[in-house]
Amino acid sequence: MVQENYREIERRVAAACERAGRSRDEVTLVAVSKTKPEERIRELMEIGVRDFGENKVQDLCRKMEDIPGDNRWHFIGGLQRNKVKYLVGSPVALIHSVDSVKLAEAIQREAEKKSVTVPVLLEINIAGEESKGGVRPEEAKELLCQAAALDRLRIRGLMTIAPPGVEEANRNYFRQMRALRDELAALSLPGVEMKELSMGMTDDFETAIAEGATIVRVGTAIFGTRAPGEPEWKA
Ligand SMILES: *Cc1c(COP(=O)(O)O)cnc(C)c1O
Repeated sequence: MVQENYREIERRVAAACERAGRSRDEVTLVAVSKTKPEERIRELMEIGVRDFGENKVQDLCRKMEDIPGDNRWHFIGGLQRNKVKYLVGSPVALIHSVDSVKLAEAIQREAEKKSVTVPVLLEINIAGEESKGGVRPEEAKELLCQAAALDRLRIRGLMTIAPPGVEEANRNYFRQMRALRDELAALSLPGVEMKELSMGMTDDFETAIAEGATIVRVGTAIFGTRAPGEPEWKA
């Protein structure tokens, strides 16, 4: 089931790339496996899927430990500073959600301790929603300049979680994200590679691709819904 779902989403990603005149390899499809059992992840690995997204440190660490191999794990949730130590030095390929200088500094300290570098995205709260993490667009430059001074961070771009549901309404937010990414890239800060735009989920990933997303994060359309308390075997 998840294999068929994934193939269908992959087909839609490819079609969206084609419509946008983009090459398929410009966009990474991350399968958001949060709350889902490891068996579903293994089923996708059988067909070659390697990019998986999780939003809870504890769940991600358990899955990384239980499922060794060459998966690229993406941390996409809110990150508390006291949990940074579990991600830095782990196989996490990209932390999508750096949204404060304090968090960036905590990552720097832990990375120094472990002599590693950490690829990250800066999270932007593009719609200014109270409930969401991320800095406001007008604060992005300040965060970038301060984080860029931390030599253990590899800043790769920006991430946002657009408001739920309204696909066309989000087009404008995606455009603003792209403009912001380009503006920050033009600063040409040393060590900063402002290339990635992580945006677009089940309801709006095609619009996001049309507007320049380089990473889309799709959960529900691949793994099914995540009703709270729902037994995972139903998924
Ligand atoms: C859950 C989640 C997703 C996937 O959302 P769907 O609507 O299920 O595709 C993407 N990004 C983040 C940050 C998430 O927490």
